[in-house]
Amino acid sequence: MEKLNTEGSKALFAKTKMYLVEGVASSFHKAAGEEYPLCLERGKGSKVYDVDGNEYIDYIGGFGPMLLGYSPEAVNRAVVAQVERGSQLSATTVSLCQLAKKLTEIIPCAERVSFQNSGTEANMHAFRLARAYTGKKKIIKFEGQYHGWADEEKISIDAANVKELGERQAPARLFTTRGQRRETADDIIVLPWNDLELLERVMEQQAGEIAAVITEPIMCDSGPILPKPEYLAGLRDLTSRCRVVLIFDEVITGFRVALGGAQQYYGVTPDLAVFAKAIAGGYPLAAIAGKREIMEAGVPAAGTFNANAIAVAASLATIGVLEDEQVYRRLEQLGGLFVQGMRMLGETYGIPLFCQAVGSICILMFGLKNGVDDFRHYLAAADIDYYDLFVREARQYGVRFTARRGRIYLSTEHSEADISRTLQVAERIFAETKN
Ligand code: PLP
Repeated sequence: MEKLNTEGSKALFAKTKMYLVEGVASSFHKAAGEEYPLCLERGKGSKVYDVDGNEYIDYIGGFGPMLLGYSPEAVNRAVVAQVERGSQLSATTVSLCQLAKKLTEIIPCAERVSFQNSGTEANMHAFRLARAYTGKKKIIKFEGQYHGWADEEKISIDAANVKELGERQAPARLFTTRGQRRETADDIIVLPWNDLELLERVMEQQAGEIAAVITEPIMCDSGPILPKPEYLAGLRDLTSRCRVVLIFDEVITGFRVALGGAQQYYGVTPDLAVFAKAIAGGYPLAAIAGKREIMEAGVPAAGTFNANAIAVAASLATIGVLEDEQVYRRLEQLGGLFVQGMRMLGETYGIPLFCQAVGSICILMFGLKNGVDDFRHYLAAADIDYYDLFVREARQYGVRFTARRGRIYLSTEHSEADISRTLQVAERIFAETKN
């Protein structure tokens, strides 16, 4: 197994840096410790190809949207047909009506929907809806959960170590970037996830001020981390009791763990939910779905590109493919192969790892054998440096994993052969790094 030559990527990165800030369009285009990111030319199915002509099996999935693989035929056809009819009509269309109707049919909480272009915007809209509906201001969010890059959303998403997070009972509110207004955190309460008792205490003390609790139903940005049995149902009961809006951020889980999202998978229906990424097969679209009385609380959904005609066409085509039940069964089978293979390799090479699949998302953590309960536990127990090393090494052997740790995206286009090749690469890395 030879390491790939990526000199072309290196040269193009050096040139791009002269014009584009840091040479990347998103800070996650470059993984931790990588000298330069790959410069890609194209993607098809489960593979992407760089400027040096190298082929990579890809588990980044365009950061989540490419559930149908790269350049999916069904979506391409719909998009090309829409290009001929106009990309941005800024009007109600037959397709828009079809999509809105379809979402209300497949998403359990969706009595009404509205659209934005990104998860960031859609979550901001959900915050505003919750505040308008309840007349209250505060939002509870959980440590390590990312809901977008806006000031109020980007709080306590990262930490260098557990100490930085402060007291478990009253966590610090960590800012992640310069220029972020500190006062936006005044209305945000941060808590550790998966801890119903602590949440209950805080909610009972401050229910009169809390508009919403926002959570990812599976905590995807750190680990990822699965909800404890009954955690989501407990969250549902508690928020209903305290008259607080429960928002599920399904930007990652939406369409990936089931057609109706994690709320369908776990059988817990929130008041509002936000979808983006995989909703439109690689085109920018986000949807907010929820109870009619909250969705119609008098908050206009502004945005020039909201429900852009191409994104709507792409979304209808994507959902059309996903409506075949076989799709999720096959994704689960592939996930099972990956998980089984990684666990066996971990045993063989004495590398402790936790690997599990939920729908099309595989979880991979090193340094521990059982999963973790929250971000603190993850920071304390997981071997993050080894994960980063694994990602860097895999890339050199033609397998691309995300720099956002531990989240491995499968697509409908991955094959048994892809998984088997990936496991060979993992074995090679384990053999080389075993001490
Ligand atoms: N919510 C979650 C859970 C995410 O993972 C992300 C992005 O990665 C967002 C929200 C923000 O979505 P977007 O990047 O479309 O603004």
